[in-house]
Amino acid sequence: VEEMILRSEKLALIGELAAGVAHEIRNPLTSLRGYTEFLKDETIEEEKQQYFDILLDEIQRIDFIVGEFMLLAKPKVLKFSDKNVISTLNHIVTFLQTEARYKRVSILTQFDEPSVIVHCDENQLKQVFLNIVKNAIEAMPNGGDIQIRVKKRAGTVLIEFQDQGVGIPKEKVQNLGEPFYSTKEQGNGLGLMVCFKIIKDHKGTIQVESEENVGTTFKIELPTS
Ligand code: ADP
Ligand code: MG
Repeated sequence: VEEMILRSEKLALIGELAAGVAHEIRNPLTSLRGYTEFLKDETIEEEKQQYFDILLDEIQRIDFIVGEFMLLAKPKVLKFSDKNVISTLNHIVTFLQTEARYKRVSILTQFDEPSVIVHCDENQLKQVFLNIVKNAIEAMPNGGDIQIRVKKRAGTVLIEFQDQGVGIPKEKVQNLGEPFYSTKEQGNGLGLMVCFKIIKDHKGTIQVESEENVGTTFKIELPTS
């Protein structure tokens, strides 16, 4: 099963709208947090403290979601520079290795080149790689392998993330990257939305191939310098 993900202009518009709404939510949210923290400090009864902690947790959840949306229309000024995407990937692998091992997932890398230079905002790319590898880990509740491959092409680099997870039903592939599309209890469906946006900002593409109960491969192609 091979599906290409097309990012429609319609989605971009929804993103812009959502980001506008998100901006409006930020102000009341900041004041809610302030007053909640104040009340928590002033409240001596210990049994009430836990309720304030719940309030603050929930406020933080909203704040996170709002923050992700704001990234869409009002992106941070991107700081582009030439970076070796191999070391960016190695950084992410090292970062996730402990969590992966704990979940009986092996992250294996096959980098044909020692260095592939991409003109990019490295922190943004890190976020993309992190989201995709985390999704791969989460797709394998019983463990398995994640293969990360880097292939150099004429003028571009292809980065593949292959897992042995649950896969994605063919009819659901088109939903990937839609805000709040998530099949997870604890998911928010914002990770891929942000990934698509960032890759688009880098003039790259994302494709996904998936087969249920076999696994999923995310393929990112980026222009090289
Ligand atoms: P979240 O991880 O919070 O659910 P994402 O935007 O990161 O949100 O992913 C959206 C959905 O896409 C997931 O809930 C899952 O259904 C599907 N998905 C993403 N990556 C994979 C993968 N590697 N294997 C299977 N399903 C995936
Ligand atoms: Mg995710």
